Parts: sequence; C-alpha cells; structure tokens
Amino acid sequence: MLDHLAQLPLTDHHCHGVVARDLDRAAFAALLTEGPGTFDSQTGFALRRWCAPVLDLPPHAEPDDYLARRAELGAAEVNRRFLRAAGLGAVYVDTGYLPEPLLSPAELGELAGARAREVVRLELIAEQVARDGVTAQGFADEVRRRLDQGHAVAAKSIAAYRYGLDLDPARPTDAEVAGAVSAWLTSPQRAETEAAEAARLADPVLHRFLVWCAADQGLPVQFHTGIGDADVDLRRADPLLLTGLIRVLPVPVLLLHTYPYHRAAGHLAQVFPHVFLDVGLTLHNTGHRAGAVLAEALELAPFGKMLYSSDAFGLPELFHLGATLFRRALAGFLDDGIADGAWTARDAERVAQMITMENATHVYG
Ligand SMILES: [Zn+2]
Repeated sequence: MLDHLAQLPLTDHHCHGVVARDLDRAAFAALLTEGPGTFDSQTGFALRRWCAPVLDLPPHAEPDDYLARRAELGAAEVNRRFLRAAGLGAVYVDTGYLPEPLLSPAELGELAGARAREVVRLELIAEQVARDGVTAQGFADEVRRRLDQGHAVAAKSIAAYRYGLDLDPARPTDAEVAGAVSAWLTSPQRAETEAAEAARLADPVLHRFLVWCAADQGLPVQFHTGIGDADVDLRRADPLLLTGLIRVLPVPVLLLHTYPYHRAAGHLAQVFPHVFLDVGLTLHNTGHRAGAVLAEALELAPFGKMLYSSDAFGLPELFHLGATLFRRALAGFLDDGIADGAWTARDAERVAQMITMENATHVYG
C-alpha cells in the first residue's frame, strides 16, 4: 500500500504558514515540538530519518550536520524542497496564528504545487473587531459582517486554548453577547495594558457565539482538541466536552489533533454523521509510534470520517514529516488488514483514496 499511497496527493486540511528566515538551533528545536525542543525525542529521530535525505544527507544524519546543511541551503530552498516532497494536492491554511511573518496560503500552495484555501480563526476576527473600537452593541453585527466577507473554506475555534470545550450548546442572544463583550472590553486586565494581548478573548459566551456565526454562514467548524503547546489545559481540550454542542450544530464539525482523546473522537465520529477527525500533529510528535495512534483512532471512526492534516507550523519539515508518517501509518494499517483477511486489497485502495482526499472534498467541497 505504501507505493500506492505515494501516488495519491494528500489534502492537508489543517496547517499553518512556515517562516521565511534562517533559524538557529534553539529556534529550530522550539518550532519542532512547540516547546523546549530536543532532538532526543520521537520527533527528533523522525526528522533525522525522513528529512535528512531531502537535504541530500544520509538518513539519521547527526543534528549538527543537519542544521549546517540547512543553513547552507538557505530557508527559501529548504522550504521549496520540503513542500514539494510532501506530495500534497491541497492545503487548507489556518491564518490566525502569526507570532511572526509566515508564508501566505498562496505562497505555500505555489511551493507545494497544491491548491490553497484559507481557514479563518474565529477568535482572531473577534479580537480584531474589539481592537478596532466597536461598541458592545455593535459587536455581534460587525463580527457577522467580517465573517461574511471572507473567502474561507472553513472556520476554526480555539476555545480549547482559552476557556475549554465545555461550552453551553445554546445559541447566545445578541443581548448576552453585548453583555459579555462589555465585560471583556472593560475588564481591569484589559484597562491595565494597551498591548495587543489585552484583547485576548477567553469568554464562553463569545466562543460559542463565534461558532454559531460560522454555522450560520454554513462554514464547517474546526475545533482545536487534544494536544497543543503549554497554553492548553489538556483536560479541558477533551472533544467529549463538545458533545452537547455537536448535537445541535447544523454544519460539519472537524475535531483536530484529538490525541490523547483520539479514541473518544473516533466514538463521536461514529455516532454523529457530521463529525470528522484527524490526528494532525500527533503524527510527528509520536514519530515511530504514529502507526499505532492512527490505528487506535480507526478502531471506531468510520473510514469516511478520517482526514489528513500535518498541523505544520513554522518549519517546512513538518509538512514532509506529517505526510511521510501518515502515508506509512495508513499503509501499515491497511496492509495489516489485507494480510489478516479483514479487507481486500481493492477495498484498501478505496479507503486510501477516501482518507487521503475524498473525505476532505466531501466536507469542504
Ligand atoms: Zn494548528
């Protein structure tokens, strides 16, 4: 199946831009694992195994040699090589997290030879509206207006990062929204600093208002769930906390990352027709164990509900690493089933087609 999967372009339905600058060792390592990175990790070993050859180095090249070769080639060439090597057909790019300048969706698509679409981050729209000095009464309409202007393929909620996923399912009234905005804009914390951070939204009424705005536009809603960086309270990022909201949302719900709740996410995908999942950045974080994680997610999740994403951010290596580990994990899973007589080779090829691309097309059009 691996040869077959190598021919199938992947739709990467959740990823971010990459940096255009050259990186020193500390900056590189930090981007590798969204934390104090270390090469002595599943991610580090996977990088040395699968990324070194793209830079003309032998597999398992030492970190110092890898970083020296990377610097020698320069960021532009490194970006070009890894994005091309990933074998992508489409990239859906979350443009809402920009701690520094990143390549745009169009630039990523060009390098990857793939179609590129934008996914808007709901909380960013709300924070921009707040920063632009709108009144509490005018807030709801202004958010709706800006969301309506976009050409986004989907919306993304990061409620898991800010409040948690245990959101009241009910659609808030405009009066409730105005009350919450008023409390937010006049909070002592916000008054103390003029910094951009002061506009950081973390209010359960407003998170769910934003989700309902996206649903009203007919946009599929992606939710951050499961692992992330040190900002996430992982207990509150369990997708099961979304069950009430999932029951009433009339649009596709995409559960991103999901680990270590990937089995629970599989359950939600099994029982709700409009719920889909991926294991995203779990693949490069678990490296050699990526196959086991994907297989666990597919214990319950129907095969028509699993999507591919890299959740690549900052480093172009993560596009290639995600794609490579995903193809290997899926190939191993499908080969195993063929060998066991669980399904035929023909069925396995059909499932490969669904998970690499067709399921995403079904959700996003
Ligand atoms: Zn992400």
